[in-house]
Amino acid sequence: SNFSKEDILRIAKEQDVKFVRLQFTDIFGILKNVAITVEQLEKALDNKCMFDGSSIEGFVRIEESDMYLRPDINTLAIFPWRPQAGKVARLICDVYNPDGTPFEGDPRYILKRAIKKATDMGYDEFNVGPECEFFLFLTDNEGNPTTATHDNAGYFDLGPVDLGENARRDMCLVLEEMGFEIEASHHEVAPGQHEIDFKYGEALTTADNIMTFKLVVKMVAQRNGLHATFIPKPIFGINGSGMHTNMSLFKNGKNAFYDENDPLQLSKDAYYFIGGIMKHMRSIVAITNPLVNSYKRLVPGYEAPVYIAWSARNRSPLIRIPAARGSSTRVELRCPDPSCNPYLALSAILSAGLDGIKNKIQPPASIDKNIFEMTEQQRIAEGIDSLPGSLREAIDELSKSELAREVLGEHVFNKFIEAKNDEWQDYSKKITQWEIDQYLTKY
Ligand code: GLN
Ligand code: MG
Ligand code: MG
Ligand code: MG
Repeated sequence: SNFSKEDILRIAKEQDVKFVRLQFTDIFGILKNVAITVEQLEKALDNKCMFDGSSIEGFVRIEESDMYLRPDINTLAIFPWRPQAGKVARLICDVYNPDGTPFEGDPRYILKRAIKKATDMGYDEFNVGPECEFFLFLTDNEGNPTTATHDNAGYFDLGPVDLGENARRDMCLVLEEMGFEIEASHHEVAPGQHEIDFKYGEALTTADNIMTFKLVVKMVAQRNGLHATFIPKPIFGINGSGMHTNMSLFKNGKNAFYDENDPLQLSKDAYYFIGGIMKHMRSIVAITNPLVNSYKRLVPGYEAPVYIAWSARNRSPLIRIPAARGSSTRVELRCPDPSCNPYLALSAILSAGLDGIKNKIQPPASIDKNIFEMTEQQRIAEGIDSLPGSLREAIDELSKSELAREVLGEHVFNKFIEAKNDEWQDYSKKITQWEIDQYLTKY
């Protein structure tokens, strides 16, 4: 859709909108918003809405705290779960400095800049389809979230009508009302775990959609008396939640990853894109998997990747090529989890892939056997490296990465590393139940 300012004002009036939420996302992937009344909408559309940037974590210092929100008028949507007389609408915004330049700490700007690199290389579109997994947990008598799952179902199960089915149905309906095209929704492997897949789209729209998706899932769960969470590994011993990321580049309206003459029907661009991601994955995994908890998902035994390999046959590696070809040819990256900032994650993955194309980075041979069944020696012999085992290791890798510094820009690169270092330090000082269980009686 291509709206004008006048369209937005007219729609707001026709739809009886009373409040407009101006939204943006901070560096750590947290959705923020300020509500204005519809009377202020014209002023907001003229980019005159100011907010105090110093109060947002990782944004700016106190002395330079005035920031402007510039609504992207193509992101207008109405919240179906809010009152329908005097409706609530939202507009996703870009963050600008008072001097009219884009704020370099705005994740949406960083993604736009990364996409521009693809356009400069002749690609008209970077398409992304995410598969977001999440858990639904019961709340206690005070309404606080627990980690008790609300059901015991498994992969693709359906059951006596449970809260999960109803909640998932509501989620799909609300998302559709907000313009999403829902492709599939199903119970995942772990008890209380679900997945809803929406149609792929151009990267910026998809990143916006992921933010909206998480908000809707949480809101609808709450209305069903449940708590939805995107934490990657809430419970030990069962699958965690990933965000498989399906990607393709288009050139002259055609899928640039498809080549009918190749044995696997993959183009050179596809191989190089894979090569670039494999080369840089250890350096950017702190962005795609940003929490202490993320690394508790990336362990053997739970369908999450651990080793840096690719395959067109097997599901266990980091990168998989789903069977579809032609215009649906795509590369599926399986490590990202839904706690990531989607703008930064897509920027980093795209830049890694483009670096592969630019420098013709040939990926190693595909690994079609189950890597988890190989011995350590076999893996070494095949040259299979693994992902960082902790946030600590991931930050160290990120700190050394020129590619990450360039794609994130100095501001976000430094703020991100500083904050993640603090997070790690804080975590490592804590005494865990594991230590008590292991040591208390032994020593
Ligand atoms: N939950 C698994 C993960 O952590 C994925 C399971 C699946 O979708 N096959 O990535
Ligand atoms: Mg899936
Ligand atoms: Mg899944
Ligand atoms: Mg998948």
